[in-house]
Amino acid sequence: MTEIKMNSTAQWQARDARHHLHSFTDPGLILEQGSRIIVRGEGSHVWDSDGRKILDGMAGLWCVNIGYGRTELSDAAKAQMDRLPYYNNHFQSAVPAMIELAERLAGLTPAGLDHFTFANSGSEANDVIVRLARYYWKLLGKPGKRTIISRTLAYHGSTVAGVSLGGMPAMHGMDNGTLPEFAHVEHPHWYVNGGDLAPADYGLKAARAIEEKILELGPDNVAAFIAEPVQGAGGVIVPPETYWPEVQRICRAYDVLLIADEVICGFGRTGAWFGSQTFGIEPDFMPMAKGISSGYLPIAAVALHDRIFDVIAKGGLWPHGYTYSGHPVSCAVALANIEIIAGEGLVERVRDDIGPYFQASLQALADRHPLVGERRGVGLMAALQLVRDKATRTVCTMEDNAAILTREACYADGLIARAVGQSMVLSPPLVITRGEVDELMEILTRALDGTARTLGLM
Ligand SMILES: *Cc1c(COP(=O)(O)O)cnc(C)c1O
Repeated sequence: MTEIKMNSTAQWQARDARHHLHSFTDPGLILEQGSRIIVRGEGSHVWDSDGRKILDGMAGLWCVNIGYGRTELSDAAKAQMDRLPYYNNHFQSAVPAMIELAERLAGLTPAGLDHFTFANSGSEANDVIVRLARYYWKLLGKPGKRTIISRTLAYHGSTVAGVSLGGMPAMHGMDNGTLPEFAHVEHPHWYVNGGDLAPADYGLKAARAIEEKILELGPDNVAAFIAEPVQGAGGVIVPPETYWPEVQRICRAYDVLLIADEVICGFGRTGAWFGSQTFGIEPDFMPMAKGISSGYLPIAAVALHDRIFDVIAKGGLWPHGYTYSGHPVSCAVALANIEIIAGEGLVERVRDDIGPYFQASLQALADRHPLVGERRGVGLMAALQLVRDKATRTVCTMEDNAAILTREACYADGLIARAVGQSMVLSPPLVITRGEVDELMEILTRALDGTARTLGLM
């Protein structure tokens, strides 16, 4: 193993600040405070450049499902690189690793989702879906069906189409708006948006906002509706139980394709291989990335339902492809990753053991803590809503800064958690142990106590 060139943290930070524009970061903070330098990982932990061991409550960016340090994946990468580092799937070519991965995925996805196109990121996967959905309707003689409906606070990526699909105000604000032919309806978060309605009634209301939008735009102009089974980056928003069945009904009633963005929910996160299985969704397209390779290499896939593929198969040459669609090394690594998830029963573990333990631990905290109004989540993704008043569901304000204060206290104490709006978000590796969940809860509780005292709630 090559040793990392030793450098003090201050040296790394200075070099980093000089040449690197960070993602989703205020460049001013990098110049003032420097970045966190992460140098190593093992299981559910990472180590920083000061040698500090940190529990990764986010699994990187929701992606390191099998945990860090699995040499099966580096072995698979080396074997494929030595045999054939690169070939492509353009112009009637294929490499065995691509064939094997598509076949493996077909065995895991819900019935009918049997064809796959590959990309390198979730954003790219969603980009091609925009093209495919419109192409599908064009081939069927309905070229007007082009608009895609999404939701506020949705996250579907950072490419131009990804940002337009998404519903993040700051991202729309960066270059003043979205592409034409994208529309958004309210995200189904009962605690904040539900008012006096019971959750079940609010779930129906939130779904019917999609129907109203379809009617407003005209069904002949709407290609598809896209949603994450559970909104991830928007704050782990689990819709009420009534929501998904009604969404499904509406999409079918108006001939609107249904895209289930599985980039976070896929590969065990919700206690099934896919969030669509957890929520009984029958999508036409399923983009997946992140957990497909546990983040060890970039790769994404789009599952196409047979009814989509059958139309596209008759359309002649399909003019789309990335140089690295189905990169052989990424495919080999994804296959090794899926073998670990399947062979070690990680999906069942999330469903039956560690997921319920994690959610119950958080629920117990939410029940007794004055700052936590709601625990939401499924499997190994969860959020705690930070509130000023539990009785009236009054959430903390921007000025309270409660989530960021809590996040910083967690990090100082050895835990990576995420602050999303006025919520704390967690999404640990699927291999996290009960002992590590207990460690996570202790750090998180201490941090929330500190924030509650700062706000005068404790
Ligand atoms: C992360 C994410 C994406 C974008 O994936 P990238 O690989 O970052 O491009 C798309 N959809 C969802 C739901 C995501 O969480």
